[in-house]
Amino acid sequence: MTIAAMPEAPRAISAPQRAMAKLGLLRDIDLALHLPLRYEDETRIDRLAAAHEGDTQQVEATVAECHVEFRPRRQLVAHLVDDEGEPLVLRFLNFYPSQQKALAAGARLRVRGELRGGFLGREMVHPVVKPASTALPSALTPVYPTSAQLPQAYLRKAVASALARAPLHEVLPAEVLPAGLPSLQVALHLLHQPAPGAALASLEDRSHPAWQRLKFEELLAQQLSQLTAQRERALLRAPALSAARGGLHERLLAALPFTLTAAQRRVGEEVAADLTRGQPMHRLLQGDVGSGKTVVAALAAAVAIDSGWQCALMAPTEILAEQHFRKLVDWLEPLGVTVAWLTGSRKGKGRKQMLEAVASGAAGLVVGTHAVIQHDVAFAKLGLAIVDEQHRFGVAQRLALRDKLDQQALEPHLLMMSATPIPRTLAMSYFADLAVSTIDELPPGRTPVVTKLFADGRRDDVIARIHDEVAQGKQVYWVCPLIEESEALDLHNATETHAQLCAALPGAMVGLLHGRMPGAEKAAAMALFAGGRMQVLVATTVIEVGVDVPNASLMVIEHAERFGLSQLHQLRGRVGRGAVASVCVLLYTAPLSPTAKQRLRAMAESSDGFEIARRDLEIRGPGEFMGARQSGAALLRFSDLGADSALLDHARRVAPRLLAERPAAAAAQVQRWLASRVDYLKA
Ligand code: ADP
Ligand code: MG
Repeated sequence: MTIAAMPEAPRAISAPQRAMAKLGLLRDIDLALHLPLRYEDETRIDRLAAAHEGDTQQVEATVAECHVEFRPRRQLVAHLVDDEGEPLVLRFLNFYPSQQKALAAGARLRVRGELRGGFLGREMVHPVVKPASTALPSALTPVYPTSAQLPQAYLRKAVASALARAPLHEVLPAEVLPAGLPSLQVALHLLHQPAPGAALASLEDRSHPAWQRLKFEELLAQQLSQLTAQRERALLRAPALSAARGGLHERLLAALPFTLTAAQRRVGEEVAADLTRGQPMHRLLQGDVGSGKTVVAALAAAVAIDSGWQCALMAPTEILAEQHFRKLVDWLEPLGVTVAWLTGSRKGKGRKQMLEAVASGAAGLVVGTHAVIQHDVAFAKLGLAIVDEQHRFGVAQRLALRDKLDQQALEPHLLMMSATPIPRTLAMSYFADLAVSTIDELPPGRTPVVTKLFADGRRDDVIARIHDEVAQGKQVYWVCPLIEESEALDLHNATETHAQLCAALPGAMVGLLHGRMPGAEKAAAMALFAGGRMQVLVATTVIEVGVDVPNASLMVIEHAERFGLSQLHQLRGRVGRGAVASVCVLLYTAPLSPTAKQRLRAMAESSDGFEIARRDLEIRGPGEFMGARQSGAALLRFSDLGADSALLDHARRVAPRLLAERPAAAAAQVQRWLASRVDYLKA
């Protein structure tokens, strides 16, 4: 066989290149827009005599002698002296022979590291060492955000060469820019390679005009892409759905075992008004855990079904989907609606029948997990899609849902529901065209949940408390954390706690529920607990959303410090659903980091999901708040909506005019900033 006959080998991609791609650093412009976190000043040589301990210093000195010590452990120790006769000790716990060679007596070196006071005088541990003859850089050295597989030095080189190649001409007409900001080209060069005298503080706190320019660019690109998505959506058509007199909507309302709260009525009207328009609804229904979003969804479904269209309701987990299914069957089947049930675990004949009912239109309402959007599911006439706990769905899944519905000339209406409220500034800037309805009131008769923090050492007290609750006929949840890297460990934890509680509570039925159990077993455990036969349910976070057992009065969350705030709030919402006073115990393992302490305290101090979301935003910042899955790469990288609100206002003001008068410039701006990300913004 000749070499020429061999198939072409795939071009090898190095690990750092792969890591760059993962960070979204694909085009030159992406690298040029990857900005430093901070800088190191390697342009100056410090005097040892004037240097402060605790600071990073760069000094030049000559090696007097260098040897390997074995006590207290093996290490390389070099004694240096600078031109003024000041001594300096260098210490390396791990070292290569090449390093040892570079530190030979007589070598004149430039070393950079944190200066400490040591036993033998001042020293540096693991400093960066170069020959003193190395040229001093003419700019500050940027330190970039990176990942473990992408060495800083590699990234630095890649950025520097991309910066030289990237097209950085001005795209924006001068009149849209805030006054006094440098050109993009000047701003980027300054940020990547600041001159030694640059105002470091304003670079690092990002208040420098060069940063302002970048943030404005980003905010404007984001506003433009939102406006574009909004306009595209405005061209779409959807079926006009309205509630008929004496129709399903009215009959469902009359059949409910309770009356709607004022807030439910108000948001219900907002949704109903959207449905009557010939344009697809794009609305987020937010309301705290237990505020009664499901019935609002059911009423919207009733309107769609009554108008001759189908409705799909998706939930992120099978358990939650099943809860919805049962509730909706209870409410709607007596009124003559066929409700279909579709999840991944539903296979075979049952599934086939369901698919037929969905395809023929016989099923007015389809409830399920993401299985509802799988390829083989075809709707006869889908008019309304409802996504519960929308933040738990990936953006890709939401896009697939919309695509599915695109088969018809008409788009369906979309209602998203969430118990994790999106703060107003976030809603406005990330989802320019998302309408938001808020249920700001709980149904009457709820008693607020009291939240207590306990160190894990007081586990026995907590178990005694469970004993009391069970003796009073109440029910208890015990939640163990999901450790993402190790499902096995997670399971071990839950199983062990389950065994411990079984032993400690001999008279009670203690059940176990975790993600690896087959669907039928999960459903059986849930049914026992919901029916009141099982008193204590040990669960991993599979119960996080939507489970509704009003007799549960105590929730224990183990390793509470490992959960996110919104997750804790969701979990806590599983109790306090009836009139009985309820308690949530957050068990934590000491010592807590300051942030963890702050977070748990926020939980104990507030039971208001909106307040908790606000604190979460404060503690973590908006990027993380939205969660990586939801944010995709679409979110703002540089701008802070609170601190940069003046820039945001400016961007919001000029974006519509730019789009109308200079569409090519607007498109180029979006392309430059968001080329690979626009899909996310449409979801
Ligand atoms: P969430 O907003 O968390 O999804 P649910 O829709 O599950 O809340 O409602 C929580 C509980 O409150 C359910 O048992 C539901 O039937 C009940 N509920 C909803 N609305 C009312 C109301 N207006 N009055 C009394 N109970 C209600
Ligand atoms: Mg719910």
